Amino acid sequence: MGWHKEWRKLAKKMIRKRKRSCKAKERDEKKRKEEEKLAQSPSFQIWLKEQEDLEKHQEEEEERIRLELHSQWLHEEELAKQRWQKQQEKLEQLKAQKAKEELIINEEWEREQQKLKEEAEMQEQKKKRKEQEEAALMDRIDKYVMGESEKLPSSARTVTESRPGCMECPFFSKVAACRFRENCSRNHIRPSISHTILFPGFYTNFRMDYVNQSNEYDTDVGLEFDDKEIYDDFLNFYDDVLTELKTYGPVVQFKVCCNEEPHLRGNVLVQYSSKRYSIKAFRALQGRYYGGKQISAEFCNIPSWGKALCGFFKKNKCPKGNKCNFLHTFKNPNGEFYKADRDIFDDYSPVRDIIEKTDWNWSPSPEPMQRSTRKQKCEIKENTPNRYSEHKHRKNSSSENEIQRKRVEADLNPCSIEKAEISETK
Ligand SMILES: [Zn+2]
Ligand SMILES: [Zn+2]
Repeated sequence: MGWHKEWRKLAKKMIRKRKRSCKAKERDEKKRKEEEKLAQSPSFQIWLKEQEDLEKHQEEEEERIRLELHSQWLHEEELAKQRWQKQQEKLEQLKAQKAKEELIINEEWEREQQKLKEEAEMQEQKKKRKEQEEAALMDRIDKYVMGESEKLPSSARTVTESRPGCMECPFFSKVAACRFRENCSRNHIRPSISHTILFPGFYTNFRMDYVNQSNEYDTDVGLEFDDKEIYDDFLNFYDDVLTELKTYGPVVQFKVCCNEEPHLRGNVLVQYSSKRYSIKAFRALQGRYYGGKQISAEFCNIPSWGKALCGFFKKNKCPKGNKCNFLHTFKNPNGEFYKADRDIFDDYSPVRDIIEKTDWNWSPSPEPMQRSTRKQKCEIKENTPNRYSEHKHRKNSSSENEIQRKRVEADLNPCSIEKAEISETK
């Protein structure tokens, strides 16, 4: 392509440009003229004025709305502030309330603690007082037992009842034992201290051992044991135990039960002329061992021996037989204490009661000691030169025995005393 063509193209472009600029100039000129014309026209002037008014109105409205919104915001701000203040006040109140409640709780807790402390102190004092009272009572009982005081303290004369308020058990009140034991619906009244001590199941022999093991009483088997042999065994026991019991003081009644009923079987009962001696014996024998067997002792009340002992048994005619609830007892040798069986205690001599002790079956532990026969013991007794004169001699030399004897003589019928005490405590 030659420069001519190029030139022509450029020339054409230049021409088009010039034409375009001329047209634009013309158009601008036309527009300017039209505007000038328009500006000079009254309708345009009115339009302009309207436009100005509108703009002004718009500005005013916008300002008004802005101010309104601002005042609204201020109002809301004020309300929020008030709400916040109220909330703060409420919080303060709650805090104060909580602090007050805590203070009350603390005070209450402290009061409670103080109360508990006082109660504990009171309990401690009460316990101490009780201990002191018990110690003082034991001391007074000791003095009474030692003969340093004449009367048993009244606080020691109490009773325990199995069912207070219920009718008294007719069996327990007579024989100090009941087949129903603690399950009995009637009241069993036990004295804390009395003239009489019961050793439940203390005595046993071959026949009783057999009954105990077989748990039933068979008369044919019972016959296998010779009555004489059994009675000899009882006499051995009698001598041995009564001799020991008499070392604590004058005995006015001694009974060994041969009943087959478990609650009466082998029960041993001893009554002293005074509680001074029964306490002594109780303390000495409770928990001790006899023939390898531990003994238990309890104070009991037999208001009338005449009513406790089975009258028919003595004549070998008890219609109740083995089921009898009254005392079937071995016959004491030489009719000893026979008057006590009829509740007569007037012929009692304290000197005669104190007999030399032959200690062969008593032991502080379960190991049985060597057992001697009644015959051997009688020989020992015979070889002892005049026991009673020896006692009379001892009586002169020992002032304690003299005091004891005087006290015994002064004692009234112990049964009547026990009855009076029981009714007193009721
Ligand atoms: Zn009963
Ligand atoms: Zn009977």
